[in-house]
Amino acid sequence: MSRLIIFLIILAAIYWVIKRAFFPGKGRVGKTDEAGEDLVQDPFCQCYIPKSQSYAISLQGKKLFFCSEDCCKKYMASRAFPKS
Ligand SMILES: [Zn+2]
Repeated sequence: MSRLIIFLIILAAIYWVIKRAFFPGKGRVGKTDEAGEDLVQDPFCQCYIPKSQSYAISLQGKKLFFCSEDCCKKYMASRAFPKS
């Protein structure tokens, strides 16, 4: 009988792990970080950063999010002088 209880506990643990892995937060769509915050992609280095921690600029009516001011400057420089 105790083996059945152990089996059920293991089953519950597996279920909990799977549930956490596949359904983090409140079933939100799109990429989110641990806190369930929206992630934005840095167009220069391609890394993902939480929106609140990103360096945001507006360019020709488009919002761009960078991981740092440095990446923003590099992105602007690469736009100004595109590689031939
Ligand atoms: Zn970056």
